[in-house]
Amino acid sequence: KLHNLVTELKGNIRVLARIRPMSEKEHSSSGAEAAVRVIDEETLSVAGTSVREYEFDRVFGPMDGQAQVFDEVSGLVTSILDGYNVCIMAYGQTGSGKTYTIEGPAEDPGVNSRALAELFRAAGERSTGFSYAFSASVLEIYNEQIFDLLAGSRDSGDKLDIKEGPQGLFIPGLRVEAVGGAEDVVAVLQKGKQHRSTFATNMNEHSSRSHLVLTIYVKGYDTAKGTSWSSKMHLIDLAGSERVSRSGAEGERLKEAAAINKSLSALGDVVAALQQRSSHVPYRNSKLTRLLEDSLGGSSKTLLVVNCSPAAENANESKCSLDFAARAR
Ligand code: ADP
Ligand code: MG
Repeated sequence: KLHNLVTELKGNIRVLARIRPMSEKEHSSSGAEAAVRVIDEETLSVAGTSVREYEFDRVFGPMDGQAQVFDEVSGLVTSILDGYNVCIMAYGQTGSGKTYTIEGPAEDPGVNSRALAELFRAAGERSTGFSYAFSASVLEIYNEQIFDLLAGSRDSGDKLDIKEGPQGLFIPGLRVEAVGGAEDVVAVLQKGKQHRSTFATNMNEHSSRSHLVLTIYVKGYDTAKGTSWSSKMHLIDLAGSERVSRSGAEGERLKEAAAINKSLSALGDVVAALQQRSSHVPYRNSKLTRLLEDSLGGSSKTLLVVNCSPAAENANESKCSLDFAARAR
């Protein structure tokens, strides 16, 4: 109860920062000395012309593994079963560790498979008096358009819209598949990612320029009372936050950069408005924030993980990411 009160007073947005280990390449080009460092569990510093310190709800360093990061997430997962909408997002420049955090390598999985395992485990534990039905969708937002990744083609008819219905926001035509366990969700996600790679000529570039959204929908039934409710969890690997120099980019690349910039700055504005308890929250400025309208703010629970590289050569981008995150706090 006290804990609930505290989170209510603090708002339901938690911001974590994660500094990944230095890569070989960074090590040989800018030396072993890290520019971004953990000071304590809630503070990190970035070296530069002057040292800047940042505070977050939690800071993870290069030595902190997937299990430690998940420790901060597991509480949210069970909230979905209580009817809360949950949104978990990874933010940062390309190469900062977003996909590692959300997805992770098969031998050391990240947030999403751990979250799913926890979700189905907790649902199983509560099976007396309650029953749950789960389903999942996979979509991406690219150039301010929504694409259904469970659809096998990318015709113009597959660009989707967000509509408001009696049950809240929904996307007419979006494929949603029933899932009975974590393995089913992984299979659905794999299918989505496979489609994604057939649409893209260069998968690595494409994945850094679009937002990938895995959503798990829960319908809960209280079998004694005969009541039911719905909630959902979004797990989002955001597009790379790096600035693209306007001078260098042209054509398609410039359009992509403008779309990413629009959606990430809209996200920053929404989160900042929520944190300041502003009466107007500008959800409508991008597809991403519109999609998340019923999962950001209100009684929803949000976790933003800001990923950054420790290396001096990336310190400017890391600072930009941390500034974004600091504004979200
Ligand atoms: P992004 O998705 O932000 O572009 P990635 O998650 O692909 O970045 O990470 C870039 C590289 O760094 C990958 O090779 C990844 O395995 C590695 N990496 C990222 N975070 C970690 C970490 N916490 N521990 C070990 N390796 C990491
Ligand atoms: Mg990635």
